[in-house]
Amino acid sequence: MSQVVIYCDFDGTITEKDNIIAIMKKFAPNGWETVKDQILSREVSIRKGVGELFSRVPSSLKEDIKRFALENLRIRKGFKEFVTFTRENNIPLYIVSGGIDFFVLPALEEFGPFDAIFCNGSDFSGENIHILWPHSCDSLCENDCGCCKPSVIRKLGHSDSLKIVIGDSVTDFEAAKQADFVLATDFLKEKCEQWEINHQGFETFYDCIDAIKNRIEVKEQTC
Ligand code: MG
Ligand code: ZN
Repeated sequence: MSQVVIYCDFDGTITEKDNIIAIMKKFAPNGWETVKDQILSREVSIRKGVGELFSRVPSSLKEDIKRFALENLRIRKGFKEFVTFTRENNIPLYIVSGGIDFFVLPALEEFGPFDAIFCNGSDFSGENIHILWPHSCDSLCENDCGCCKPSVIRKLGHSDSLKIVIGDSVTDFEAAKQADFVLATDFLKEKCEQWEINHQGFETFYDCIDAIKNRIEVKEQTC
């Protein structure tokens, strides 16, 4: 079988909603929505915007924020079965997330292990929260992504594989442009339509399993 490789987003994709937005709604002082809108309209970079959002929140709220994030996130239907499907078919599954380690890693623990999880880091040692960027853009990306999905994809190689990106929003735009096929929901789906990127919509991970099965079958027939 020709190899398929999957790069899957976390916030708003594996989870039903965006956890950074939920955390800001609950804990950030007024005015955070302006920064969110600037990120979505791409007036400010994701790295700058997300860093700015968390820099407004006191580190002393650490435990409250962690508890809130984990209690409130809902995993999208079919994710567990999706992970099993990729394992049974020896499909590498990388989680590439613009989210933050303190909620991404514990939320995924029961579903792992994964081939790898890439996300941003956090430092609660100062007065306010400081976000760390261990996977920032390589020399080929000028987007100031924060967690740079295209850079991660390049670093991982898999140049001969069929690259599938699964995502929902602004952190997935640059990765979607590099993909052979995109499974998209929400804002990413609108953008894929607008930019005429090869994609299919999804609501649950059962839809993703079906779509990938079809791709594998089509590829086998044409090889
Ligand atoms: Mg997302
Ligand atoms: Zn980048």
